[in-house]
Amino acid sequence: MDFDLPDDTLAIRDLVREFSRKKIEPVATKMDREDHFPIEVFREMGKLGLLGLTISQEYGGAGMDYLTEGIALEEISYYSGSFGLSYGAHNNLVVDNIHRNATREQRERYLPGLVKGEKIGSLCLTEPGAGSDALGGMKTAYEQKGAHYEINGSKTFITNAPVADVFLVYARNGKSYSAFILEREDGVETPRKIPKMGMRGSPTGEVVFRNIKVGRDRVLKGEGQAKSIIYQGLNAERAVLAFGPLGIARRALDEAINYSDQRVQFGRRIGEFELIQEKLAYMFTRLEAARLLAYKAAALVGNKLSDPSYAAASIMLASETATQIAKEAIQIFGGYGYTEDYPLGRYLRDAILYEIGAGTTEIRKIVIAKALLKK
Ligand SMILES: Cc1cc2nc3c(=O)[nH]c(=O)nc-3n(C[C@H](O)[C@H](O)[C@H](O)COP(=O)(O)OP(=O)(O)OC[C@H]3O[C@@H](n4cnc5c(N)ncnc54)[C@H](O)[C@@H]3O)c2cc1C
Repeated sequence: MDFDLPDDTLAIRDLVREFSRKKIEPVATKMDREDHFPIEVFREMGKLGLLGLTISQEYGGAGMDYLTEGIALEEISYYSGSFGLSYGAHNNLVVDNIHRNATREQRERYLPGLVKGEKIGSLCLTEPGAGSDALGGMKTAYEQKGAHYEINGSKTFITNAPVADVFLVYARNGKSYSAFILEREDGVETPRKIPKMGMRGSPTGEVVFRNIKVGRDRVLKGEGQAKSIIYQGLNAERAVLAFGPLGIARRALDEAINYSDQRVQFGRRIGEFELIQEKLAYMFTRLEAARLLAYKAAALVGNKLSDPSYAAASIMLASETATQIAKEAIQIFGGYGYTEDYPLGRYLRDAILYEIGAGTTEIRKIVIAKALLKK
């Protein structure tokens, strides 16, 4: 078994790391305090080719695999969890999804703008009454009326919605579920940005569709195909998004190590106390274990493994690990960790989201257990 990453993956990791350190780190606190989304930095990533890592080169992408995209997300999230969330939603939930499922015409129409960062994407599945039961509870409806489809309904908790140009929307007609590519110009409304406890700066919003009329050319993969798009998409989404909490956790651990090395109590650096050393040892071990599973899940999903248990296990372990590590980092900082003078609270608030988004921890457990029992 070879644990070395390929050279082109390492080159992208280094590019993203450098970009994030220079461009995202300086705005990370402002994003959190003012719930500010630095759209110009996002667009700059597009100019550097970082918004289409898994997209084939004919549409302006880099033609890389999910592991590389995950590693990019870890680097971004090291500097800002919320920037990472917006990046993951755009890149994976929307751009990669369209690339995987769209017709050539749809790819040519949407991918170049999304890859360059001229357009921003959001994926609209969740509704006020349809969270974990996303399909069963779905009320957003489509109806065929002559040559076009009419869409009515609303979505909530949609990452990037307040700034998005392209909306990948799931709707139903009785028992038939379809996915549509909508544009803001079609009349899509985003009436409210939702204030949050964490992931501030990543704009989350409500989306409303009132008699939106579009042609057949906006249906993704064909009418009635949404279930397969959702299940396959969730697998890729979970495998890639698992790297977000890894980035947050790595940052919290680095901060905790530095602080343990500097803070002096009882005449000694606190890192000399064995109870602090135990915390650091556990934090490191959990992070490395979570990363190994994330690498494996990303590689398996990239090889088209349909078993959903690895991706679900990967994001479950990574998100729980990030929450634990961020909390332990606060403990190591003592009172200072609890203040706004240090960003430790942000790491914890951001990490918690990953136990909820892309299917909650409870739903992930159900997915894993079902797959195991089927075997
Ligand atoms: C910041 C943020 C960004 C998001 N981004 C997006 C996005 O871009 N696009 C999108 O479509 N959605 C997005 N979501 C929505 C997210 O996917 C949902 O919040 C999530 O799926 C849970 O749905 P819910 O909030 O309605 O919780 P509910 O489904 O109401 O769950 C409430 C609680 O009940 C538990 N529960 C539910 N069913 C079961 C069960 N069968 N067994 C045991 N426990 C159960 C849950 O685990 C949870 O603890 C985002 C959410 C947030 C907070």
